[in-house]
Amino acid sequence: MIIKNIVVGPLEVNCYIIGCEETKEAAIIDPGDNAEEIISTIDKEGLNPKFIINTHAHFDHIGGVKAIQDHFKIDFILHKDDLFLVENASEQATSFGLNPIPKPEVNKYINNGEEITLGNKSITVIHTPGHSPGCVCYYSDNNVFVGDTLFAGSVGRTDLPGGSHETLINSIKERLFPLGDNTIVHPGHGPSTTIENEKAHNPFLK
Ligand SMILES: [Zn+2]
Repeated sequence: MIIKNIVVGPLEVNCYIIGCEETKEAAIIDPGDNAEEIISTIDKEGLNPKFIINTHAHFDHIGGVKAIQDHFKIDFILHKDDLFLVENASEQATSFGLNPIPKPEVNKYINNGEEITLGNKSITVIHTPGHSPGCVCYYSDNNVFVGDTLFAGSVGRTDLPGGSHETLINSIKERLFPLGDNTIVHPGHGPSTTIENEKAHNPFLK
């Protein structure tokens, strides 16, 4: 599977462009900012973007969605429990001292266990509430894109609206650990890791 990582915005969000090698169909995960750089990377790689799929809707993960959605005329897909965060994204941004963001339109909702087809690949949706109520992870080909649910050596904050630490830890243990030790974990901030590493060394998961 094609995986390109672009670090975007003042909070250094990992935006991922993932794609099928054979068909060049691609999806954009969490375009938080730098829409022009994301668009030019897609064009340069000769990819055919089909949709934007977000792990959640905190402002730092959705700031570039509208520009990319308008440019490629593709759907923005999200879990419905994070719709309230899309609605108040600009208030979140200004509360962090940052500029308001262009509000995207959500075109489609996804649920736990759903499969999304991307060329010859299948992406499984895993609902992992805790960091926000509508957090989801996307699993394909031994890779999981986890947003702010899990980080190398840490877990997502749960002090923002709708967050719950207990729910977050349960989501990781019950829905991400079963993916298997060798699964590569691509977080929303910071370096990639594996399920094995986090089981062994993450102090929040002892
Ligand atoms: Zn977040």
